[in-house]
Amino acid sequence: GQCRVVCPTGAISIKTNMDVIWDLLADKDTKVIAQIAPAVRVAVGDQFGLPRGENVMGKLVNVLHRMGFDEVFDTSYGADLTVIEESEELLNRLESGEKLPLFTSCCPAWVRYCENRYPEFAENLSTCRSPQQMFGAVVREYYKDPEKNLGKRVVSVSIMPCTAKKDEILRPESSTNGKQDIDYVLTTTELVSMIRKSGIRFENLEIEASDMPFGIGSGAGVIFGVTGGVTEAVLRRLRKGHNRVDMDNIKFSGVRGEKGLKEVEFDYNGRTIRAAIVSGLGNADALLKRIKAGEVHYDFVEVMACYRGCVMGGGQPVPAGPRTKSARMKGLYDSDVNTQIKKSNENPLVQTLYDGLLKGKEHKLLHRNFEAAKNE
Ligand code: SF4
Repeated sequence: GQCRVVCPTGAISIKTNMDVIWDLLADKDTKVIAQIAPAVRVAVGDQFGLPRGENVMGKLVNVLHRMGFDEVFDTSYGADLTVIEESEELLNRLESGEKLPLFTSCCPAWVRYCENRYPEFAENLSTCRSPQQMFGAVVREYYKDPEKNLGKRVVSVSIMPCTAKKDEILRPESSTNGKQDIDYVLTTTELVSMIRKSGIRFENLEIEASDMPFGIGSGAGVIFGVTGGVTEAVLRRLRKGHNRVDMDNIKFSGVRGEKGLKEVEFDYNGRTIRAAIVSGLGNADALLKRIKAGEVHYDFVEVMACYRGCVMGGGQPVPAGPRTKSARMKGLYDSDVNTQIKKSNENPLVQTLYDGLLKGKEHKLLHRNFEAAKNE
């Protein structure tokens, strides 16, 4: 397809890659890997007559396999890595007292906005790669092994609710050893159109589990798709306990809900940590002005450019009325409820990765490659 899609946040305007991907899927010498972002799974079902907001991850895995994707993974796994790295970074900054508040860096439209409009805060942005990019770097590293790539060229495709993610993969910071970590981004809307073109009856598909060894994401990773989700995930990581009461305490701390600005305070080893959660660039702008003027002080600020978070991303099917919007949010919270592992650091597959493939490479693969950016 050569049609152009336009990012509602005004960040970019980019061509779609659907035709290239069809060709790659048909090529026997290429291994095509997909990762599916949290917000995508709650925005596809209603396009095929299923209830709005229903989590159709299992059907998505099935349909991608049928379309020819060799492996299908879950970006929630990448989100778990982000939670672990970003929590660590927050603790380090709290200790040193520098570059606070820590701003999240998982939304590329926000990162661009901050760099362009508030360059004085660019250093406050987390050095962490986004879940998409952490996953991309890890997948690339994993498939370096000839036993894993079987002598084939490996192409990494991510399915995202977001047009700004197409820009993120091209940034020099999103590369390892001079190579782009993700090759192509398909938006949810583009995926829906590819499914239609394939002629597969999506609504009737059986569910399938995503592939190993990156097939399990924690509940914390899944809620990344909704505003407040990153903060809730970080809180789960930092706070002790993991039973239902512990989770409920975090749930009712003020992290949830549709408001464009939410504030939470929590105790960490006797210290009060203040966090703000904003969604919508207008709300972010208003908050930055107040932070700059010294009117408010925070330790951690989560920013999503889209109001309500990625569930309402520019790559998701439109129009979405109020009921669809809340159904998508509920869909993600429901998938968290149905997940046994609530905390990112308790995801066993993540533990295995840190003890194995990631050992000594955490910084290189999970943080933004500023060296490459300097050499641009
Ligand atoms: Fe993309 Fe919007 Fe999510 Fe930001 S909040 S990553 S722009 S979908």
